[in-house]
Formats: sequence, C-alpha cells, structure tokens
Amino acid sequence: RKFGYAIVGLGKYAVNQILPAFAECEYAKVTALVSGDIEKARRLGKHYGIEESHLYTYDTFDKIAQDPEVDAVYIILPNSLHADFTERSFRAGKHVLCEKPMAVTVEECQRMINAGKKAGKKLMIGYRCHFDPVTHKAIELARTSIGKPQIISTDNGDNTDPTDPTYQWRLTRALSGGGALMDLGIYGVNGSRYMLDEDPIEVQATIMPPSDPMFREIDETIVWIMRYRSGAVAHGSASFNVNAMSRFNLQGTEASLRMDPATSYWCNSVSHCTSGDTQTWSTPMFTIPALNQFSAQLDHLAISVANNTPLAATGEEGMQDVRLIQAMYQSANSGSRPVSTDWGDWRKTI
Ligand code: NAD
Repeated sequence: RKFGYAIVGLGKYAVNQILPAFAECEYAKVTALVSGDIEKARRLGKHYGIEESHLYTYDTFDKIAQDPEVDAVYIILPNSLHADFTERSFRAGKHVLCEKPMAVTVEECQRMINAGKKAGKKLMIGYRCHFDPVTHKAIELARTSIGKPQIISTDNGDNTDPTDPTYQWRLTRALSGGGALMDLGIYGVNGSRYMLDEDPIEVQATIMPPSDPMFREIDETIVWIMRYRSGAVAHGSASFNVNAMSRFNLQGTEASLRMDPATSYWCNSVSHCTSGDTQTWSTPMFTIPALNQFSAQLDHLAISVANNTPLAATGEEGMQDVRLIQAMYQSANSGSRPVSTDWGDWRKTI
C-alpha cells in the first residue's frame, strides 16, 4: 500500500506542481483533498480518482482523523495558516509536510514542532531543493572542489501581478508574515546555510522604500548580509518587483560555483569555474531517481515513516530560517544595525 497524502489548499503550487508529481512517485499517492471550494475539490478529485468521501472543506477537515487512507497532510496554504493546520493535523494523528516558510513567527514554529513530538508524528518542511540533484551536486562541489568558501551572493525575485489571487495574500502581512524575503529570499537564506554547512552568527538587512502602494505592508525589495564564524559572508537580495531571478554564486579561494537558475522548478544548473575552465551540470544530465524534486520530496516522507529514517528537511530546519528572517527584519527596522544570531551551530549536511 502506498503512503497516502491529503492535500490542503488547492492553489497554484498544489494544482500545477504537487498533484501532477504524484504520477512519478514510487511510494506515495494522493488520497484526499481539502479546499474552501468543494466544487474545485470535486473537479480535481474526479481527475485524480479521489472519491467524495475523501473530500473535505476547512470546516470538516478534522474528520480526517477517521480517514484511514490518509497517512500525512500536506499543507499548501498561505503562510499564516500553516501553524494552525499543522496542529490540527497532528491532533488528527497524521504526519505533516508543510510548505515553506514554515510559519510566520518563531513561536508558531516551536508550537508546530512540539505538537509533532506530542503526537509522535513526523514534521517535514517543503524544501524541495533538498531533493534536487543539481543542489546535491553543488553541495558536493562546495565541499570538495572550490578551496575555502569565502563569499556567497544570492538573488531571488519575481514580478507581482496584483490581479492574481496567488499574489494578493502575499501582499497582505496578516496572511504572508512578510514579503519578498519570506517568500523568495528564503531560498537564498536556506541555500547559504546548506552550501556552507554552517549557521550565520550575525545578520544585517535593509528594506528599500516601496515603489508602489501595493507593497506598503511588506518588503518589496530587501538586501541582506549574513556573517559566518568561519569568515565566510553571504549577501543577498529578494524582490517582488523584478523579472524572475533565482541566482546563487559561491566564491571559494580556488574556484567558484555559479547557479542560474539555482532553485527554479526545472532546469537548474551549476557551473564549476576556475580561471580558464568551466564545467556545467544541469538537470537533464542526471539519471538518478530523484530527478524530479517534487516527487522525490513526496516519497521522502513516505520512506522516512516506513523505515523510521531521519528527514532531510525537519521542523528545526524550517524554524532556523524563520528565526534568521525575523532577525533580518529586526535589523531592517532598526536602521540596518547588525543583529546577533549566534545561537549555536546545529546544522548538519543534508
Ligand atoms: P495560492 O494562492 O495559489 O494558493 C493558496 C490556496 O490557499 C488557495 O487555494 C486559496 O484559496 C487557499 N486559501 C485558504 N485560505 C485562504 C485565505 N484565508 N486567504 C487566501 N487563500 C486562502 O498560493 P501558492 O503559491 O500555492 O502558495 C501556497 C503555499 O505554498 C505558500 O506557503 C507558499 O510559500 C508555498 N509555495 C511553495 C513553493 C515551493 O516551491 N516550495 C512554490 C509556491 C508556493
């Protein structure tokens, strides 16, 4: 029997990326849908072979406790709803896969971790890049072939369409918890940590004045610095008002790594560059089963539950990013002064 997921929230990411990815899963399948729009759930249920008895609304969600087909709940809702639905899922006795950012405050993250421990169930965060073979290749090169890592630069951005509902909640602080940094910059924050296998000890950030009133509640464009105990430094930017970008560069003492795109859905690439020689690896070159990061991520929780093996992207991992992001907002809101994040290193290589 395959491991069954209930998908909560049938928005863009759920419908366009996650539901189709089950077709490539070896161990997981979708067995229930949860939506505020029952007609949409019915339509998708028909397409994916899910019967009416496994369709839920947000109000009837707690009945999922009695649904034996559901092993885990995958939460793909606006950020400020992650914590409550995670707690409800654990109360229903299910494992949880929750989208990034894990939640909007550190306190919520801690509550989610505690609820999972109390229920004796697993909590995984939807860091799909941890299952991208290009990311794995980049980490291997960073460890073995660039000398001492010195400087990271990372940029993530997209254009905002205020007429599209998927962008509307992102512009509303109460639902998003923050702007470009929470939504897109998190890839650079998390990426810097796994590339260096280290947590930063100090951060600094500046939020640029909004260029349009639609960005008044959140960071439209933010630039930041993270300093590491090893001496490495990462600097990054995130913006909701640029042509799509997903870049990651790591400069070592002997070679550099260039990733552009670094964390997109498809066709990421990494180049290893020394003076006079460049070698590039891109998604189509990998034939390992984890080629599709979405399906590999869905299978990963199933395998981890079946074999009781460690998760690649834990609640603690998600909470550390939220903590760092909050420290960056604190810096930005206090004249860009440095904020200590020297909470002790705990990070382990993914
Ligand atoms: P979306 O707006 O397309 O979908 C969100 C869904 O939540 C919609 O179906 C909407 O109807 C529903 N919803 C329920 N309550 C709502 C409320 N009070 N206000 C607004 N919508 C409500 O958004 P999305 O792009 O699918 O993002 C959902 C989550 O997935 C976010 O946490 C986002 O960060 C994450 N995400 C992750 C990735 C990734 O690559 N890992 C990519 C995109 C989105």
